[in-house]
Amino acid sequence: MALVTLDYLMKKAMKGNYAIGAFNFFTYENLIGIGLAAQRKNSPVIAMASVGAMKIMGEKGTVGACYGVARDYDVDMVLHLDHATDYDLIRRCVDNGFTSVMIDASSKVYQENVDITAQVVEYAAKYGVSVEAELGHVGGQEDHIKVDEREALFTVPEDAKRFIKDTGVDALAIAVGTVHGFYKSEPKLDFPRIARIHELVPTIPLVLHGGTGVSDDDFKKAIQLGVRKINVGTELKVHGVFDVSKQAYASDSGSDPRSVSVKVIEACAKIVESRIDVIGSVGKL
Ligand SMILES: [Zn+2]
Repeated sequence: MALVTLDYLMKKAMKGNYAIGAFNFFTYENLIGIGLAAQRKNSPVIAMASVGAMKIMGEKGTVGACYGVARDYDVDMVLHLDHATDYDLIRRCVDNGFTSVMIDASSKVYQENVDITAQVVEYAAKYGVSVEAELGHVGGQEDHIKVDEREALFTVPEDAKRFIKDTGVDALAIAVGTVHGFYKSEPKLDFPRIARIHELVPTIPLVLHGGTGVSDDDFKKAIQLGVRKINVGTELKVHGVFDVSKQAYASDSGSDPRSVSVKVIEACAKIVESRIDVIGSVGKL
């Protein structure tokens, strides 16, 4: 058990008709919580570093930490770069041992998205690193755009088929009603659209971003329709790390930060375990 590629886990998930959780980490305790949860559930897991996190952690340190945690907890773990827009950062992550990268050129027009994605695929392929791209655009809650404007950014199924052919990516993030961050009202997923995309690109694992706040039933339905990777970030960041650290520092009378670390690890592990239970990767190591 060690670091594995996204492609490896996705192929297994496609065969078994389940999804694998992808969890953001920002601190070492956060990462340990992910590894611990994977071990407890006997589940493979995807650990994701965002571009913002990379500015703090550095490529080599991130790879070393992730490699060590996967071995300590004896689990299959993907180290994935989330939402990268910068080719140089992607190249550095590939060079240093990431096993998967996401190139997000979803805010660009179709051909520009294809061009940069294909360039990343060509580079990553030399090192056996998997590539996820995004077509359509999954926005953030902070974007304040109206529902009909958001729907205009949903992935067009026929375009997805063309995009896969034009780029050769291993996984595709689709815009079907989820957003990043906390939801102000319950998210409405466009299930017929997920089904149609899966029908047109049946061998490509689909990725759902913005997993925080999506109901268990919606997750299960999306997985039945072809979603194979589900991203959860906000929940870990806010409930797993920030709230727990703040509360623990405020209530602990001692001067040993290790007591806080233990609480953060456990809080992160609990969140990851509950997601693993829902998406069906328990026992899939
Ligand atoms: Zn995302």
